[in-house]
Amino acid sequence: MECPSLRTCPFFNNKMKDMPATAELMKKRYCLGDNTECARFMVASRLGKEKVPIDLFPGQTDRAMEILMKS
Ligand code: SF4
Repeated sequence: MECPSLRTCPFFNNKMKDMPATAELMKKRYCLGDNTECARFMVASRLGKEKVPIDLFPGQTDRAMEILMKS
């Protein structure tokens, strides 16, 4: 299922610095697969898009959990 943030997400639109070589695979897995496992989506859905760090990558769920615990 497509993530509802596809059009505006900086990761999906290659707007993040230092995009990983595995970015296309990550897009398939998270953005076009299961966005509920994406770190960016986890933070955005609970705290709002403005709380998502600019440099947070989809696989950084530990970091996302830390942000959620501190909020
Ligand atoms: S799954 Fe994550 S990285 Fe992909 S579009 Fe949604 S919020 Fe962005």
